[in-house]
Amino acid sequence: MASRPASQNGLTDGGRIRLIERRLRLEYGRPRHFNPTDPLDDLIFLVLSRMTQEIKYVRTYARLRSSLSTWGAVREAPPDQVEELIHEAGLAPTKTAQLQAILAEILGREGALSLQRLRSMADEDVERYLTTLPGVARKTALCVMLYTLDRDVLPVDTHVWRVAQRLGLAPEGVWSETRGRKLEARVPAGLRASLHVTLIAHGREVCRAPKPDCGGCVLADQCPTAGS
Ligand code: SF4
Repeated sequence: MASRPASQNGLTDGGRIRLIERRLRLEYGRPRHFNPTDPLDDLIFLVLSRMTQEIKYVRTYARLRSSLSTWGAVREAPPDQVEELIHEAGLAPTKTAQLQAILAEILGREGALSLQRLRSMADEDVERYLTTLPGVARKTALCVMLYTLDRDVLPVDTHVWRVAQRLGLAPEGVWSETRGRKLEARVPAGLRASLHVTLIAHGREVCRAPKPDCGGCVLADQCPTAGS
């Protein structure tokens, strides 16, 4: 992979990241990627989204909501009924067990199936709360914080990692928790949430995994791997 210094075009690292964020924001706005606005709804949505395509988990979430209209009903339903409803999203037995365990844990902690209390908590407390729920990884917790609590965080998923690598913002090699944290720390405060949602859009529409469309990319002049 070719690389140029971060100070490409005479910009500092932070200046270059600001330029990238601004261009992506002008191109994509602030997409929500179908994430619900309620924190518990979004947590369920994110569990369903694991290891599957967007169209499948969006449809699956809608089916689950219309069939079992409350999270209490999902918690109490026989597992095979939930598995059948979420079958399209894949890993149905695993996701069903996780969903029901999360709902039981929240009910035990809150006395209700609601995460509204998170709205008044500090970022680090919200992250600790969510990552101590059954099977909830930090990336999922940060997504809930970003999409429903308006926190300025940068969850790093495969799209974000791939595009950041191509732009020279992340090192070569596979994603790891530590590397994701380093990338987040490198992005100036105030830009992290915006960069997350727009890098995902860019990774899906232009900087695709098998073959990026560098000719149609608004970041081509900032990208050390453009055309390679
Ligand atoms: S120039 Fe190509 S590789 Fe670089 S961000 Fe754009 S699409 Fe991706």
